[in-house]
Amino acid sequence: MKRFQWLVILVFFQLAFLNCSLDMPANETDPITLNLQTDSLPATAICSGINELHLTGQFNPAKDTSFAIIPNQFTSKKQVFLRKEALDSFELMWNEAQDEGIDLTILSATRNWTYQRSIWNRKWNGTRYAEFDGSERAIEILKYSSMPGSSRHHWGTDVDLNALENEWFESDIVGVATYAWLKQHAGRFGFHQVYGDQKNGRTGYREEKWHWSYLPLAKPLLDCYLSSITTGDFQQFEGAQWADSIGIVELYVQGVDIPKP
Ligand SMILES: [Zn+2]
Repeated sequence: MKRFQWLVILVFFQLAFLNCSLDMPANETDPITLNLQTDSLPATAICSGINELHLTGQFNPAKDTSFAIIPNQFTSKKQVFLRKEALDSFELMWNEAQDEGIDLTILSATRNWTYQRSIWNRKWNGTRYAEFDGSERAIEILKYSSMPGSSRHHWGTDVDLNALENEWFESDIVGVATYAWLKQHAGRFGFHQVYGDQKNGRTGYREEKWHWSYLPLAKPLLDCYLSSITTGDFQQFEGAQWADSIGIVELYVQGVDIPKP
């Protein structure tokens, strides 16, 4: 064989190998089984280093080394995860709160796409929203729940604390003290209430006094999300066809209170 032919064969095999190594795992249609490479979130260069599949929850936090399981003293739930940096900061905040007589308990943290879809589809098919049709049903559910692919809980940076109702934080003596403590101190640890009372014109979800976001990581993730996710990313769940007309990205994902630097 001529030297040239050998060269062609060699290049062919190298390309074939390279292509294989970039392939998705075989079971790519099942998000829960995806075990993606970890990413790190650079403070500068927005979007470099961020895996797009993390933005929409297409991963399994139990198998992702960017995430850590939340220790028992911080949560009443089993097998809940946060990004490691967010968990480290939460631990510091939790300790300070404890010293001042405030108990912080994580009720929910990272939820991947599969998990969020189960919440969404259950609500869609349940009796509570049955009187609404099409986009109206989606809008009702969206008062407090996200469409799969659009939840901040996908990012591993956000936690729901203590009680999933504003009333507890407004009327219960412990709830009032807890909320006052969070409003005064959580920001020092990077945690902010991103779903405020909407008096400032914020769009999207209703106020959630329990939902706190670790912005040092969540802010670059949000910026990346807004620059890369499109309507085509919302599919394979009930009512997905309404995502665009409802303005899931513009009104809901973007409808957050973020303090000015
Ligand atoms: Zn939440």
